[in-house]
Amino acid sequence: MTIYTAPVEDMMFLFEKLRNNKNYNELEKYKEITPELVKDILEEAAKLNQNIILPLAKSGDENPTVLENGIVRTPPGYKEAYNKFVEDGWQSLSCDPKYGGQGMPKTVSAFFDEMLSSASLAFKLYSELSIGAYNCINHHASDSIKKKFLPKMVEGKWSGTMCLTEAVCGTDLGLLKTKAVEQSNGTFKISGQKIFITSGDHNLTENIIHLVIARASDSPAGTKGISLFLVPKFIVNEDGSIGQRNGVSTGSVESKMGIKGSATCVLNFDNSVGYMIGPKNKGLNSMFTMMNLERIVVGIQGLGISEIAYQNSLNYAKERKQGKSHQSQLSEGADFIIKHADIRKSLLNMKSIIEGERALSFWLSQQTEVSLYHKDEKIKQEASDLVSLMTPVVKSLFTDMGMEITSDAIQIYGGYGYTKDQGIEQLYRDNRITPIYEGTNSVQAIDLVFRKEDILIKEEKIKQFTEKLNKNIEILLKFTNWIKEKMQNSKDDVSAACNDYLKVLGLVATAHAWVKVLEVSFNDYEKNKQFYEEKIQTANFFFNRVLPRIESYYLTATTGSKYIMDFKFN
Ligand SMILES: Cc1cc2nc3c(=O)[nH]c(=O)nc-3n(C[C@H](O)[C@H](O)[C@H](O)COP(=O)(O)OP(=O)(O)OC[C@H]3O[C@@H](n4cnc5c(N)ncnc54)[C@H](O)[C@@H]3O)c2cc1C
Repeated sequence: MTIYTAPVEDMMFLFEKLRNNKNYNELEKYKEITPELVKDILEEAAKLNQNIILPLAKSGDENPTVLENGIVRTPPGYKEAYNKFVEDGWQSLSCDPKYGGQGMPKTVSAFFDEMLSSASLAFKLYSELSIGAYNCINHHASDSIKKKFLPKMVEGKWSGTMCLTEAVCGTDLGLLKTKAVEQSNGTFKISGQKIFITSGDHNLTENIIHLVIARASDSPAGTKGISLFLVPKFIVNEDGSIGQRNGVSTGSVESKMGIKGSATCVLNFDNSVGYMIGPKNKGLNSMFTMMNLERIVVGIQGLGISEIAYQNSLNYAKERKQGKSHQSQLSEGADFIIKHADIRKSLLNMKSIIEGERALSFWLSQQTEVSLYHKDEKIKQEASDLVSLMTPVVKSLFTDMGMEITSDAIQIYGGYGYTKDQGIEQLYRDNRITPIYEGTNSVQAIDLVFRKEDILIKEEKIKQFTEKLNKNIEILLKFTNWIKEKMQNSKDDVSAACNDYLKVLGLVATAHAWVKVLEVSFNDYEKNKQFYEEKIQTANFFFNRVLPRIESYYLTATTGSKYIMDFKFN
């Protein structure tokens, strides 16, 4: 089994030392969230994840969730752990106190998300989609729907799903076939099939609240005719009690490469009762509230899995002896593999990416809070632009890096990484979904350069990430200009470059986060020499070995796409 110690010290460092964000500090809402309180929460969260959630990773992988006699059964230990999870209030951490939540900021819940992703992504997904559904309902539903559904979801007694994908419609949601027929009482009858629905059915909660996109009978084709509906597994009576079963059934549970404890379901909606959320034909706008927040959380999944892969690799490298290092003092036997430069390089690569990503994600959480709650509309809008720009970057960069890091972890373990006993290959398999769901990483890159072009071209926005990173800023700006130019007359050039562009922006942003960490590290050096020295050396690796990848992304991408589009595949 893998080991895991939650990185509470690094999280507290970010919370205490990188809070010097003026706009964030102006938020009245979080004035009472002191470092002492956050430390207590993180220490409790660490215990939960290390002792209770971590063992579920192996049991879930070995005993996947199954559909048996019409019931979806989660792996051994899941139900007990889920009950403890909700009893101790973890589900409600970031939810509105109005519905029974604890009102913690995203800066704190993002740390918790990272820990859960490290301990067991498959288990995490049951609560994660509920929070996504909660956010969507809270933003877009009527007061009566909120009152009826949110308290139980916040309590964790009912869970949530996001039902978009159908057999013929994945990335292109405009192709969806699920229908919604309006009834005389204002409700709708929903019919159609959804596939790949995370936590679509399971035995952990009393009810499941599906958020389903469908097309009303008189709506136009394409994305302009999509509406959003709330469809409960069990109808909820006026007094809030659970009534009869709704017309939703589970066709099957997918057999998957990883996250095997997570129930990925085919759901059949057969004249099921649904309630429209938000305006008709604007369903995608409402769903985007859920999807955008989810995308950041999926990025954090990549970060969490990277962290546990790093911790185990480091531990193994300190225990495994093979060969003599160049500086070996031994006359016989072998050194620990951590003495070899190549292994050290891999470990530092992991560490420098992970700590940079964590700092970037902390900054993005702050910006998200400013975009939601700042009193000044202009500041709010600026923060919202930044969040919108950085959401696809964080989703893709962190999950792609998760693939690199989990693969390198297997390499450090050698054959013991490839075989199952150590649990390392599972991290690679579990992470493999993260670049795919919530919009594939390529589609995120397309979204970044095509749909967010108006934000991109306000170059001062990019500049503020990048003081002190002059050479790479220049590349980013040159690359941005190249994209702008190609956007006019050669969209294939842009499409073939957008993944590279996303990585350049992501690495510049991560470097910027590192600069913030370095400022504190130099200023406060004497206060905690060992901690800050490690930060400075890790940053040194990032700037020497990771950041220069930017140049290669730029040079290869700007060779254009003619030779790609002209190639004849036989
Ligand atoms: C384990 C798991 C859990 C999931 N959970 C959920 C869930 O809870 N709810 C839900 O609704 N869905 C869920 N999904 C579905 C997931 O979001 C989709 O699989 C994903 O969005 C991609 O859609 P697709 O599989 O149909 O691929 P496609 O859309 O068919 O894409 C195939 C390939 O084509 C590329 N591509 C597509 N369009 C373009 C384009 N315009 N330009 C360039 N390249 C393009 C893609 O990047 C991809 O590489 C889940 C899937 C899995 C496997």
